[in-house]
Amino acid sequence: MAKLTVEDLDLKGKKVLMRVDFNVPVKDGKVGDDNRIVAALPTIKYVIEHDGKAILFSHLGRVKKEEDKPGLSLRPVAERLSNLLQKPVTFVPVTEGKQLEDAIANMKDGEVLLVQNTRYEDVKDGEYVKRESGNDPELGKYWASLGDVFINDAFGTAHRKHASNVGIATNMPGKAAAGFLMEKEIKFLGDAVDNPQRPFVAILGGAKVSDKIGVIDHLLEKADKIIIGGGMAYTFFAAQGKKVGNSLLEKDKIDVAKQIMDKAGDKLVLPVDNVVADKFDNDANTKIAEGNIEDGWEGLDIGPKSIKLFESVLKDAKTVVWNGPMGVFEMPNFAKGTLAIGRFLGTLSNATTIVGGGDSTAAVKQLGVADQLTHISTGGGASLTYLEGKTLPGIAAISEK
Ligand code: AMP
Repeated sequence: MAKLTVEDLDLKGKKVLMRVDFNVPVKDGKVGDDNRIVAALPTIKYVIEHDGKAILFSHLGRVKKEEDKPGLSLRPVAERLSNLLQKPVTFVPVTEGKQLEDAIANMKDGEVLLVQNTRYEDVKDGEYVKRESGNDPELGKYWASLGDVFINDAFGTAHRKHASNVGIATNMPGKAAAGFLMEKEIKFLGDAVDNPQRPFVAILGGAKVSDKIGVIDHLLEKADKIIIGGGMAYTFFAAQGKKVGNSLLEKDKIDVAKQIMDKAGDKLVLPVDNVVADKFDNDANTKIAEGNIEDGWEGLDIGPKSIKLFESVLKDAKTVVWNGPMGVFEMPNFAKGTLAIGRFLGTLSNATTIVGGGDSTAAVKQLGVADQLTHISTGGGASLTYLEGKTLPGIAAISEK
């Protein structure tokens, strides 16, 4: 890629500002799933092993009022990071001012400091001022003034234009680089969409067509086949004139679904059968429906014939991008379609298989098939934006090589 990367930077003795994605679940002062912290370790370790001073910035949750702050402190994250790195991490409980500036001035080479949640800047004196989330120009300039170089390793927020990613980067021209995680995400998603080994098959699922229209539009130009599963398939069924019973349906998107089908021709592959249930419950009565879905029944998973059909489309693929589960995978009785597709992707040893973040990532992890796939994106919204072919401001702001 043409962007500056961490390996292009001279780090020795430098104050290295780093935007990482530590937006992890924290409950009662304890970090839950620490995957995102683990994902940032390679870049952090690289910086400290090259004698840089690692000054880390991240957001955590949404700060909209003063009372949100205590529960969204990054202190527990600093503790977990310290355990993972097996070295001390200095936590600075503020986002600006003398306490932060002194702490940075006192750092030795190879040390690590974590700044308080960048979104604390969104609320000042009880007012929701969105300095971080609104990319306040003064804030980006101030944070940039605290360091010598900048590394953005937070792919998960790259679709947002915030002071801690875009703001800092634009104030450090020629010195803003991508971290290893960011580089990996750009490489896999970028190559898949813009330079794929063919056949390139996209699998789209999840709840709503409305969330994925941009992705379908863009991928229709890029992919050889687009498989549609999950709740969004029923709006396409309705567009074909089929009955969908109580299944998820976006009536106002039926026309859009029609247009997509006209444009796509045989590129679009829809389910041919569904597991239908008499209520939205794991213990509901179920049966397989081909064609129409009767009133009183709702489609909660793809059926066995659809699994076979999708596998036949996928078997020769060289590139697969997957976003969105095939059914209500959170309920074991309706997870079979998602599991089958995940397992099948795991057997495609000659293909690059990429999962595009969000619920699909949760699904492949929960179902235990993540290890067999090539790349699991860390960013839900960011990877969707990428798949829509849109520019991600966080990436655009990184300096060119
Ligand atoms: P998304 O965030 O758009 O990827 O949607 C993920 C959600 O879609 C998951 O919570 C699934 O349970 C849900 N989902 C998938 N298939 C269906 C379906 N047939 N009916 C209702 N919800 C579904």
